[in-house]
Amino acid sequence: MTNDAPATGTPASSSSSSSSTSSSTSPADGASATTTLVTGGNKGLGRETARRLLEAGHTVWIGARDEDRGRAAADELGARFVQLDVTDDASVAAAAETIAAAGGLDVLVNNAGISGSHSSPDQLTGADALEVLDTNVAGVVRTTTAFLPLLRRSSAPTIVNVTSGLGSFAAVHDADRVESTVVAPLYTASKSAVTMLTVQYAKALPEMRVNAADPGYTATDLNGGSGHQTVTEGTDAVVELATRGGTGPTGTFVDRSGVAPF
Ligand code: NAP
Repeated sequence: MTNDAPATGTPASSSSSSSSTSSSTSPADGASATTTLVTGGNKGLGRETARRLLEAGHTVWIGARDEDRGRAAADELGARFVQLDVTDDASVAAAAETIAAAGGLDVLVNNAGISGSHSSPDQLTGADALEVLDTNVAGVVRTTTAFLPLLRRSSAPTIVNVTSGLGSFAAVHDADRVESTVVAPLYTASKSAVTMLTVQYAKALPEMRVNAADPGYTATDLNGGSGHQTVTEGTDAVVELATRGGTGPTGTFVDRSGVAPF
């Protein structure tokens, strides 16, 4: 269940990045340590995803468009920082170079997202639509394309796309679900696209695990703090998908209760 309708390159450490093939730390559960990049990792669900993966013994890169915010979060958590604006091809390419030079990547969490305009249909503009789609959809494409060469060198290549139940056709047509009560044309359409991108990438990249996570309605800046879940609850699905070690199904849509309809 979700209702996230919004209310209104340089590593921090000079040491080499670990990966499933070159890790220096082991997760508490005994699984192989991986190296994960979380886009939009400086706050909200991305930051909590980074914190939990670090706590589990993984190596984490926080990608953030703002260097000060990103570096501060990385320093607080003990993560690595890389400047990464998902709307900027050069920034994404530079981030991929930085992470490749530091040892590679096993898990890409495409988390960065914006709510976009909440104007009425009479006032929505093409520019409003392009802004949301550039970050939420093209951002996933840019980042995935840039990091595929690194993921292909991993023994456990994994992509987790952070989508939303608000982009689920099943959920928005189910009168018993809160998603059916939300009107946010651009944001919801962008998340439908993220979920379909996930399905299509899963078909195109059978050598990887590509899945979509619905956090559920979580209190973050995206919705002015109105979500009923904590960020820890909101990252259950993301963290679960990011820690499967390259195993399990691909092309699924998962919330914190398990596989969900989309
Ligand atoms: P948030 O607290 O607003 O965090 C969004 C993050 O994305 C921030 O770190 C932000 O960076 C970053 N970001 C935005 N544009 C970016 C860009 N061009 N390049 C790189 N980073 C960028 O929101 P959140 O709730 O944690 O959202 C995280 C993801 O969860 C989003 O994809 C959202 O759609 C999804 N989601 C959220 C909920 C919910 O209820 N909260 C539910 C379902 C899905 P700045 O600090 O620089 O702005």
